[in-house]
Amino acid sequence: MYNKKETLYWQNQTQELLKKQQGVGIDVKEIDALRGVLRFHEYRYYVLNDPLLSDYQYDLLFKSLEKIELQHPSLVTLDSPTQRVAKDLTRDFPTVQHLVPMLSLDNSYNAEDLRDFDRRAKELTGLSAVTYCVEPKFDGSSISLIYKNDLLVRAATRGDGLQGDEVTTNVKQIRTVPLSAAFAAQGIEEIEIRGEVLINKDNFNQFNEHLQQQGLAPLANPRNAAAGTLRLKDPTEAAKRKLEVFVYHISYTGAATHGSLPPALQTHAGSLELLWELGFRSPHLEKKVCITIDEVIEYCEQYESMRDDLPYEIDGMVIKVNEIGLQEKMGMTSHHPRWAVAFKFKARQATTQLTGVEFQVGRTGAVTPVAKLTPVAVGGVMVSSISMHNEEYIVEKDLRIGDMVLIERAGDVIPQIVKPLTDLRKGKEKKIVFPTHCPVCESRLFKEEEEAVWRCINIECPAQVVERIIHFVSKDAMDIRGLGEANIRKFYEQQLLRDIPGIYTFDFAALENKEGFGKKSIENLQTAIAGSKTQPLHRLIYALGIRFVGETTARTLAAAVEHLLDFEKFSTEQLLELEDVGPKVAGSIHHFFSNKENIEMIRTLEKLGLSLRNEKKENTASGNVNGKTFLFTGTLPTLKRSAAEEMVRNEGGVVLGGVSAKLDYLVTGEDAGSKLEKAKKINTIRIISEAEFLKLLEA
Ligand code: AMP
Ligand code: ZN
Repeated sequence: MYNKKETLYWQNQTQELLKKQQGVGIDVKEIDALRGVLRFHEYRYYVLNDPLLSDYQYDLLFKSLEKIELQHPSLVTLDSPTQRVAKDLTRDFPTVQHLVPMLSLDNSYNAEDLRDFDRRAKELTGLSAVTYCVEPKFDGSSISLIYKNDLLVRAATRGDGLQGDEVTTNVKQIRTVPLSAAFAAQGIEEIEIRGEVLINKDNFNQFNEHLQQQGLAPLANPRNAAAGTLRLKDPTEAAKRKLEVFVYHISYTGAATHGSLPPALQTHAGSLELLWELGFRSPHLEKKVCITIDEVIEYCEQYESMRDDLPYEIDGMVIKVNEIGLQEKMGMTSHHPRWAVAFKFKARQATTQLTGVEFQVGRTGAVTPVAKLTPVAVGGVMVSSISMHNEEYIVEKDLRIGDMVLIERAGDVIPQIVKPLTDLRKGKEKKIVFPTHCPVCESRLFKEEEEAVWRCINIECPAQVVERIIHFVSKDAMDIRGLGEANIRKFYEQQLLRDIPGIYTFDFAALENKEGFGKKSIENLQTAIAGSKTQPLHRLIYALGIRFVGETTARTLAAAVEHLLDFEKFSTEQLLELEDVGPKVAGSIHHFFSNKENIEMIRTLEKLGLSLRNEKKENTASGNVNGKTFLFTGTLPTLKRSAAEEMVRNEGGVVLGGVSAKLDYLVTGEDAGSKLEKAKKINTIRIISEAEFLKLLEA
């Protein structure tokens, strides 16, 4: 799309505009340059995956454009980078007619099938050799894009193949789709392009994590995620899901009255190249032109073996006759073109029977229904149980015990139930009844409004206690090796370990005669436990298992304090000021630190030698208290003496035993006695009130 010279040009323009942006501001006269610069960087970022500008600088330029357009509304163009931003909040999806029907593909599963396809192609064309273009079969949701006079005017889903839903607003959120492209210069007035909308594996996993953090069921696979996103009513929400598009087919071209179509369009490979040149993300690097079917087979097999290494899901390869003229000659059935075939990779779906349900209680008390399955291999992994997340999920999918179910494992994603195969029901399947009481401690389950999960709210519920300990020692938390899940369960039953502080008072002597514990393993366990005492604060925060506090939030929290118990003093509002902490998270943190038992447990941990300090912060602290010495005398108006002393220590200060030249601050209350008199004689000591003391701490 941009050659070296053009790249340099836009780079220069970028620098100049940034300079102006920071100085006198960007003038309305430069609106075209500004748009050009933004388009160039969108392309570098989204299509090439190789940004040349920081997000921050991009935003600065983008905002300048928004400002100029606001001041000069008549200059707004339909393909301005600002026009991706959805202005209307909700919309329906009108049904639209496709210019050319969107067909399916015929399938093939092995080399034999591909050789058959090759034979048929030769028969139909009357040639002795046919050239193919082979490319990945992207596993997403197909889309049709229409450009008229260089502008993207319509995007539609496949629908039934003849008609689809118009989803232009949502598709405009996808940065790999150019809002305009220079087709006219190629003699093309109108063009319909087909492609696949997808969400890459990382973004998919992140999105699922996000859903689960909110107690919602994750989506089964990236394909459903992409399709669902296209149909979201709120385009700003759609923008957050970070969809991508690969375009792989030109289905219609309307030539301008003068001029002829570019020669590149005479082959499929050529049209992929042309689309790439015009700024689209086509599989121009992924494709391969093959002159024999053996070559095709080899390429397909090669791709299957690297399937898991790709950033997005593909479920096979597509083999297309390369010459468009030959494609036309071969034609199509009502179902699929005769000039193309899909080579399907080994299925990652399987059917099996749902034989029962187990209700598991997690560390937050959430009760999760887990489907027990007749063990089956899916994409090389044996699966015998799958989480069904919550009651709604079961009701929505109408899952019943005894059902045959379709399950899927998309890449490295945890297997999911796609649906029950209702046609196979015999009438003996049983409804899944959600328990009203905790399967472990038998206390009544509760469900909060707007929540999907039932919870056991008995803090002492053994299931929760055990899960909390398991989480506490886990690899990303305190990382206490040797104290794995199985051991914790065993120790809990044997009453050797009943709560988190119990880890640090563990009676190793009791282990000595137990089966499976040699001297060496006991030693290792001791070392691991002792070692965990100095884990950084963010790990400890994560280990506490506060609801909604994942590793990232734990880091944010750790960076905000010098001592873990500082959170006792944090209001919800203060918590909300932290990065990425929303009302739900803030509420949960506040709740946790308002609970006496939690505070007591944390204090116990500190007494047992765990570090509750944010070491990093201390080192960089320029604070007024850090490294200074304090002494208290008299009755302070609000603070208890011990609390005040603790505050000093928490901030890295030292509390002295008596007045001496080493003392920096004497904090005085009512009835201050001899200490005050003594301090007055040493003029380096500053004598302050409680209020002044508190100010010092704040600063
Ligand atoms: P199927 O839905 O299995 O019949 O396969 C046809 C679908 O494969 C098309 O509707 C496209 O959405 C999708 N597809 C993915 N990648 C490609 C590709 N490179 N060429 C053609 N179709 C593709
Ligand atoms: Zn319980």
